[in-house]
Amino acid sequence: EVQGKRLLPLCLYIAVFKNTFLDFFTMQKGMVNSMKVIMLGAPGAGKGTQAKMIAEKYGVPHISTGDIFRANIKEGTELGMEAKKYMDQGQLVPDELTVRILLDRVAKDDCKNGYVLDGFPRTIPQAEVLDKALSEINDKIDYAINVDVPDENIINRMGGRRACLSCGATYHMVHIPPKKEGICDVCGQPLVLRDDDKPETVKNRLDVYHKQTQPLIDFYNAKGILKSVDGTVDMKDVFAAIVAILG
Ligand code: ADP
Ligand code: AMP
Repeated sequence: EVQGKRLLPLCLYIAVFKNTFLDFFTMQKGMVNSMKVIMLGAPGAGKGTQAKMIAEKYGVPHISTGDIFRANIKEGTELGMEAKKYMDQGQLVPDELTVRILLDRVAKDDCKNGYVLDGFPRTIPQAEVLDKALSEINDKIDYAINVDVPDENIINRMGGRRACLSCGATYHMVHIPPKKEGICDVCGQPLVLRDDDKPETVKNRLDVYHKQTQPLIDFYNAKGILKSVDGTVDMKDVFAAIVAILG
């Protein structure tokens, strides 16, 4: 009984201070709890929709190379003008340009605890550059999440997608409509059909996806970090499947 009395305060002490000790040792080793996630999937699979939800739940920035290009097009920058030539055709912006933008972005301070990459990498060379840059700082991607949606569903998704070019929010006219037709719920700006969501360009983008981006599924599978989720179900259910993976 005496021994029990001695153990109780010790157990309480451990229970209360365990996390403080763990945090202290992690900080000493220079490790921070970090979450680096890549979203894979065809254009229109729901990568952006899910990436925003992940970013909010886990408190990491959502980085979309497509959003960065569109913001530059809107501002009329040189980068924007260059990217637009490819985007309007449904082609990929050259690796050289895209990689530079992405590496600059992930080097920013808000990325030190991780990030969700949406739309990058889209080619094997992009993935290799990212891997190399991370391994140079003794770091790596934790998960590559493949949002799986067949081509038939994609055509319908893209036609109904409406985007806010001001804040990057996306809607679907039928599945995820805004509260007020044609107006962004978040910032009140008008919603548009993206130039590259027009049917003739969508077909091109799907071809480009199958040729250049789909091989990334095998690339990350070989690294043991690939997780696939069914992207055809309701967006809340897709998210629940992702949370079950990320923890
Ligand atoms: P991506 O970033 O992969 O190109 P988005 O997240 O922009 O795709 O989604 C494409 C379109 O499909 C958008 O209009 C979006 O609102 C809609 N969408 C996303 N997830 C779902 C879902 N689970 N079910 C139905 N529509 C969805
Ligand atoms: P998204 O918003 O991700 O659908 O991207 C829209 C367009 O931006 C793509 O069709 C490409 O033209 C371009 N883009 C976005 N990300 C990349 C990338 N990682 N590599 C090359 N082009 C990209």
